[in-house]
Amino acid sequence: MRIGIFPGSFDPLTNGHLDIIRRANRLFDKLIVAVAKNSTKVGLFTINERINILETCCSDIKGSIEFVSFDGLLVDYCKKNNVSSIVRGLRSVADFEYEKSIDSVNRKLYPGIDTVFLMAREENMAISSKIIKEVASCHGDLSSLVPQFVQNQIKEKFSGK
Ligand code: ADP
Repeated sequence: MRIGIFPGSFDPLTNGHLDIIRRANRLFDKLIVAVAKNSTKVGLFTINERINILETCCSDIKGSIEFVSFDGLLVDYCKKNNVSSIVRGLRSVADFEYEKSIDSVNRKLYPGIDTVFLMAREENMAISSKIIKEVASCHGDLSSLVPQFVQNQIKEKFSGK
């Protein structure tokens, strides 16, 4: 069974992430979408909230998708869970430069792993979770950037509910 993993912070999930999840789902028997726990960064959403958002927004996707969180090294998680491929999205040359070194280190740490890169769709190339948070903090229109459910969750966050 071919198992792929799509790791990220997903804080919050964007249209760009969602597109990569849909496309990666077609490539593997099972896709794990893994929310990285980063103890040094406080997110807008908690890890459980991010997983809940992912589950809700991906509920229409057919196929075997699992949503998890992990800490520590991604390659250790891959070894333990028989994951053969890491999926990453590429938006720009900057992403490429960053991903190149991560891929090289990952394969040194665990030669059994490979990374599959999927190009961002043109309409999603400028979308990042960081930009979403900036637009959201100024109450900007997020309708072409994130799913409706994420828009609602962001509204709740910023209204302090
Ligand atoms: P971000 O960079 O938006 O904060 P993450 O750290 O959660 O997102 O990134 C997880 C993965 O999703 C990375 O491989 C990243 O390149 C990919 N990704 C993020 N945004 C997009 C997008 N708009 N289109 C395609 N892939 C994306």
